[in-house]
Amino acid sequence: MARPIVTIVGRPNVGKSTLFNRMAGKRISITEDTPGVTRDRIYAECEWLDNHFTLIDTGGIEPNTTDTIFAQMRLQAEIAIDMADVVLFMVDGKEGVTAADAEVAQMLRKAKKEIILVVNKMDKFVNNNNIYEFYNLGLGEPVSISSSEALGIGDLLDIIIEKFDDTMDTADDDDSIKIAVIGKPNAGKSSIINRIIGEDRVIVSDIPGTTRDAIDTKFERNEQKYTIIDTAGIRKKSKVSETVEKYSVLRAFAAVERADICILVIDADKGVTDQDIRIAGYSHDNNKGMIIVVNKWDLIEKDNSTFNEFQDEIRKSLAYATYAPIMTVSALTGQRVNKILDAVDEVYSFRNLRVSTGVLNDIITEAVLMNQPRMVRGKRLKIFYGTQVAVNPPKFLIFVNDSEIVHFSYQRYIENKIRDSFEYKGTPIIIEFRSRG
Ligand code: GDP
Ligand code: GDP
Repeated sequence: MARPIVTIVGRPNVGKSTLFNRMAGKRISITEDTPGVTRDRIYAECEWLDNHFTLIDTGGIEPNTTDTIFAQMRLQAEIAIDMADVVLFMVDGKEGVTAADAEVAQMLRKAKKEIILVVNKMDKFVNNNNIYEFYNLGLGEPVSISSSEALGIGDLLDIIIEKFDDTMDTADDDDSIKIAVIGKPNAGKSSIINRIIGEDRVIVSDIPGTTRDAIDTKFERNEQKYTIIDTAGIRKKSKVSETVEKYSVLRAFAAVERADICILVIDADKGVTDQDIRIAGYSHDNNKGMIIVVNKWDLIEKDNSTFNEFQDEIRKSLAYATYAPIMTVSALTGQRVNKILDAVDEVYSFRNLRVSTGVLNDIITEAVLMNQPRMVRGKRLKIFYGTQVAVNPPKFLIFVNDSEIVHFSYQRYIENKIRDSFEYKGTPIIIEFRSRG
């Protein structure tokens, strides 16, 4: 079973991203530039009354700026329909029904998906007269909201979760390790997954009769549970239409959101591609664990330096992810594929490693003694005390005299000192400096 996906579609300026931000709350933004994505956040994990779901704002996907609004909306609606269990079709209650609204409504009516017609900008619900014309879209009862004034959002969320059915997994994530297998098409993701799980270890597979193609695969090894996220989307790719295929990277982002650890599969024959860099950047920015798997190693003519050359190239392209272990495999021959889950276990244990406050402060004190922070604006940084506040991902809070004068290079230095002692292999660690009087 997979987590329900809810998408928002609608004309530009109807208020999609305002609603998205309301429902999503505060999240870390994507800093890496993603062509075709015009907003910094288009995915969010949401929860309402213990129902967990993934929210996607298709308004952030702008395939080609020379396209007409019609063409853009058609594509966004296509992606929304393809990926979603529930589509929120948003219209503007102040402007009324437009031709573009009518066209998209027609597409949505044909799709066999749950559609909710959302009429936004019903501020203080004063525009209620307008609501009746929206019945003409043939999508049932319109739901009035005001995104900017936060009116009607709770009722909308109630309606959304009513649409979920028992083929969907809305539960809080279980105790399995969540793995997203990412990488460009044809890198060998499906082959690797099939090798890893082997047919007999699949506990949950495709559910007949469901239209969605995003299915999680759960299995167990040595009493550890694992979930490979959204694997059917990878395995049945022939079903996906060509336009949507281009957006496989967007689907990968949604999988990364839910993952603990990303396995980035690189085709040894092709090297690191721009798409690899983009997806890996998303994983890093979201503080996910990462393992870099160079597949199709059987195709490479090797001598003593081949592995090192690959490693150097990868480290250069993915410079921010120095923590990620690199391994070479062949899904074709099976060579070293069984080591992947060992690496997953190892990285997961580092993500859950807790450092005692005493030991951490010994390390920090020693680090400061060896290398004093420089003066910044006539002031010297003083570090009082550090403590680990979270695991998976590991997060440290360090109290200082003035967090504004922490230089990036000094933060990097402290991070390296922590890693020298505890390694934290395969995972980013978050270090937050906080001022204390
Ligand atoms: P999007 O292009 O569909 O994502 O639309 P945005 O969320 O960017 O909103 C477009 C404009 O409509 C912005 O100026 C918002 O402040 C405004 N807006 C969004 N929701 C509401 C609302 O409920 N009421 C009013 N009056 N304005 C809104
Ligand atoms: P995906 O699109 O990333 O899921 O890639 P697939 O698993 O469908 O593999 C794409 C192609 O590469 C298929 O023809 C596979 O047989 C082939 N392939 C996958 N792994 C290997 C490998 O390790 N070595 C070789 N030579 N071919 C492979």
